[in-house]
Amino acid sequence: MTKADFETRLRGASLRVTQPRLAVLAAVSSHPHVDTDDVIQLVRAELASVSHQAVYDVLRALTDAGLVRRIQPAGSTARYEARVGDNHHHVVCRTCGAIADVDCAVGQAPCLTASEDHGFTVDEAEVVFWGTCPACTPAPTTTSNRIPGGSR
Ligand SMILES: [Zn+2]
Ligand SMILES: [Zn+2]
Repeated sequence: MTKADFETRLRGASLRVTQPRLAVLAAVSSHPHVDTDDVIQLVRAELASVSHQAVYDVLRALTDAGLVRRIQPAGSTARYEARVGDNHHHVVCRTCGAIADVDCAVGQAPCLTASEDHGFTVDEAEVVFWGTCPACTPAPTTTSNRIPGGSR
């Protein structure tokens, strides 16, 4: 995405185009599931004078405007992504906290049907897949695969 695309997104959400907003949007777009500290670092690499508070404020404004989605898996700090408008889910590594996108198998929210809605109008089922990422999965050792007494 180019700077012009980000400007279009901001204007489309009735947000004034500012350098900090452009920088935050670019950082979140190029680093899916980035946390606040990393957004600050990325933005400051471009705009050294931007304060922490300014980045927090921009993240909130972009999230409120729907340009950025905030996710916070249990035990994780808040993460941000620019992939909005679809009902995608996340798979999270229990060991290192790595997060990856998972396309929704159904597409539209809510993708699960509540067995009892208690009269609520349900519009979303929050789905988080938990497991172990490839980097944290111990490689099977050859010894454990050997059949006891088997020939070499
Ligand atoms: Zn991991
Ligand atoms: Zn995502």
